[in-house]
Amino acid sequence: MTRIGVLALQGDFAEHISVLRRLGSEAREVRRPEELSGLDGLIIPGGESTTISRLMTEYDLAEPLRELAQDSFPVWGTCAGMIVLARRAADLEWPTLAALNITVRRNAFGRQVDSFETDLSVPTLGAAPFHAIFIRAPAVDEVGEDVEVLAALEDGRVVAVRQRNALATAFHPELTDDHRFHSYFLELVRNRRAETRGDADR
Ligand code: GLN
Repeated sequence: MTRIGVLALQGDFAEHISVLRRLGSEAREVRRPEELSGLDGLIIPGGESTTISRLMTEYDLAEPLRELAQDSFPVWGTCAGMIVLARRAADLEWPTLAALNITVRRNAFGRQVDSFETDLSVPTLGAAPFHAIFIRAPAVDEVGEDVEVLAALEDGRVVAVRQRNALATAFHPELTDDHRFHSYFLELVRNRRAETRGDADR
């Protein structure tokens, strides 16, 4: 069984945990560095990127997480989590984890449309559109080398990306009953596990 950690410093970590368990995966809240050991992947939930970043530093999680991400450990950030995983977030006064070669802008959709829902085309997940919930969401400003765009809005703004085993979505798949993004992440996790086990056997 895959064992996934969900960073539980702040934000909607409980929703991710419940989806992961429904999909038959073991899921565990992570608040301390020692809770990272034995995990196959980690999700950074939505919330406030400033608060999550501050607590990550206070709880001595920032460095170990940065190292894991550099080592192509599977990580997925939703909304605030996307901001935390980016190489750069223009208006965040904390260092990011730089797991993804993207630049993001916080609250990219302005005050009037703070929150909205829309049906996104995500070819990687199949033909059926994905109903995406955006809450004071970031958008990707720059997509760097090696980053695959998984979804964009009709106006071209990029809202879901992957770089090797790092995944980021500007919206909240944990708030809908469509679990295809979670299944996709678990697939990355299983592939990576098979790879690293193969290496150990060699
Ligand atoms: N606006 C928040 C931030 O900048 C993100 C909102 C969310 O995660 N739903 O961190």
